[in-house]
Amino acid sequence: MLFRHSQGPEITADNWIHRGVLLLNASFEALTEIRAERAVVLLLTGSAEPVVDHEPYFPIRSKDVEIALPETIRLTRYIYLEHRILAPDDNSRATLPAVLRRDHFRCGYCSGWARTVDHIKPRSRGGPNTWANLIAACGPCNTTKADRTPEEAGMRLLWEPKAPNDIARRQRQVWKDLAAS
Ligand SMILES: [Zn+2]
Repeated sequence: MLFRHSQGPEITADNWIHRGVLLLNASFEALTEIRAERAVVLLLTGSAEPVVDHEPYFPIRSKDVEIALPETIRLTRYIYLEHRILAPDDNSRATLPAVLRRDHFRCGYCSGWARTVDHIKPRSRGGPNTWANLIAACGPCNTTKADRTPEEAGMRLLWEPKAPNDIARRQRQVWKDLAAS
């Protein structure tokens, strides 16, 4: 079973190992995202099979085998999980590098180049490290805002920060493909 979708930025021999590959349980439920490097090992050892290949075709060569770089793979054996691994919600904890990546290094207040992360509700007042409370910010905006809320600082968020929903979106696509096949 193989579906093809067009996906994201260009893949090169240098960057393919860092790509995220969606890992599905044998039941087609999304488990998590793993690095392409690990996904390829699962494919080569028969622990997983491809569900969606990267488009356009990108060959991964290992010894005398060539396989396609996958976007989504599925475990060949079901693994039982007591707690389902769910896509993060707005109130899950986020790391600062992950927030910068989510916001594409753009400042949430001026859309300039951002290398720091702002707590919308300040940390000094109990503002948590969650997807909804963190936003990428440039140095000047972060300094101007200081220990204030955006309202107090007279600053406005250009977008509402949320948990990245990539896993949820791709899971929906898997169900859709299954229903259509
Ligand atoms: Zn800024």
